[in-house]
Amino acid sequence: MTEHQLPQTSTPLDVLVCGAGIAGSAVAGLLQRSGHRVTLIERAGAHAPAGYMLALFPLAEDLFHALGLTEAYRRHSIELANYRLYDRHGALLREDRLGELMGAAGSYRGIGRAGLLQLLRSAAVPASYNTLLTDLQVQGEQASVTLQNPERQWTQRFDLVIVAEGMNSSTRTLLRVPTQRLNTGWGGWVVWEETEGRRSVEPGGAAEPASPATGSELWGNGYFMGAYPVPGATGFFLGGPSALCQAGPAGFLDTVYRGTGAIPQEFRTVGDTLMSQQHPYYWNLEDVRASRWVSGPVVLLGDAAAGFLPTAGIGAGMALDSAWLLAGALAEHGRYPLPQLLAGYLKAARPRVLAAQDNSRRLARLMFRRSAAWAAVRDALTRRASVAAVLGPIRSIIDTRPDIGGLLRQM
Ligand SMILES: Cc1cc2nc3c(=O)[nH]c(=O)nc-3n(C[C@H](O)[C@H](O)[C@H](O)COP(=O)(O)OP(=O)(O)OC[C@H]3O[C@@H](n4cnc5c(N)ncnc54)[C@H](O)[C@@H]3O)c2cc1C
Repeated sequence: MTEHQLPQTSTPLDVLVCGAGIAGSAVAGLLQRSGHRVTLIERAGAHAPAGYMLALFPLAEDLFHALGLTEAYRRHSIELANYRLYDRHGALLREDRLGELMGAAGSYRGIGRAGLLQLLRSAAVPASYNTLLTDLQVQGEQASVTLQNPERQWTQRFDLVIVAEGMNSSTRTLLRVPTQRLNTGWGGWVVWEETEGRRSVEPGGAAEPASPATGSELWGNGYFMGAYPVPGATGFFLGGPSALCQAGPAGFLDTVYRGTGAIPQEFRTVGDTLMSQQHPYYWNLEDVRASRWVSGPVVLLGDAAAGFLPTAGIGAGMALDSAWLLAGALAEHGRYPLPQLLAGYLKAARPRVLAAQDNSRRLARLMFRRSAAWAAVRDALTRRASVAAVLGPIRSIIDTRPDIGGLLRQM
């Protein structure tokens, strides 16, 4: 496959993609473009809630290009050119220029999850919403699946089922794939503050590119706050040990205000915003790793294969990276049989995903602890450590793109 284009397959496959999230919508669009027949189903309704904010490493440029979304993505995201880190007292520890760090690879960009989904879905086959896979039987080289929506239930055969159902995939459970979970014992709320009239994300829309922005984090003693700009708004994450969060936002904020000498500018109003929400969105900070990604004609993709903690801000990037590699392998159908293509995808994608997941887990160990002594040590370490060193493994993932065609030829 060339840098930006997928080849056309000579023998199209009937593919079912379960989950029109980030990985599923992306892979559905790519497979359709390389000539496969794609059915895309989504458990939720068509109108997803705003969700959370995403910071995306430059891992998906080829994918956006192949989907014709390069310009739309740039218009509806914002460059995160700087990163500010505050210590446990609220004093500025360091400020790093992320733009320089990314170098020629591209830019680190902020976008709302709902906006990214809208872009990716605009380039994919229309999804069947409110639809679930309720049974899957492998019959010869195909999968016979039972699908259900509020109106009907039916059975259909597919050459390949791509399971992109996110962290808590029910099809993965149906397949009895063993998983390993990491629960940090922390959780947190996502809240939004508008910075200017929030722009709707219409792929053809005429939004102006926003000026580069700064993402900020405060690592306190037993709590964490992050501010991540997207065009027209900032998404905040406020987190801490689950026991502290379970006491509710008021108790959590009391701990933050007592523990932080001076609340940095970026976080001054977020407490009021959190308190003004009737049901602020709460996330448990846990991840998952599936031990088997391929079961006959079924393959796991994105968070369903390896789900991410938000610590390194890389899960969505890796979901898109894997979607690109899987679509690249499947575009070669006809030259190679399906099992070899899936083995090639595994060989290319899995080590990258696991390295990124390990990096996110290491960062979680640094961030999610409650001890005054540890917070002091961490402040001293992070003052000296360079962001480049902390993100080293991610940088090497960005810099080394597997050549899936070459890999398949060698297998
Ligand atoms: C608070 C938070 C902040 C984050 N921040 C970042 C960040 O800054 N940068 C970054 O790169 N990553 C970030 N991540 C991680 C990132 O969001 C995930 O890694 C990414 O969404 C994975 O994409 P996915 O398509 O695999 O799963 P998802 O995006 O979760 O999509 C799964 C889809 O499948 C659907 N579904 C579920 N079950 C079924 C079913 N049985 N049948 C059909 N459909 C089903 C769901 O409704 C959903 O639409 C963050 C995550 C969280 C929680």
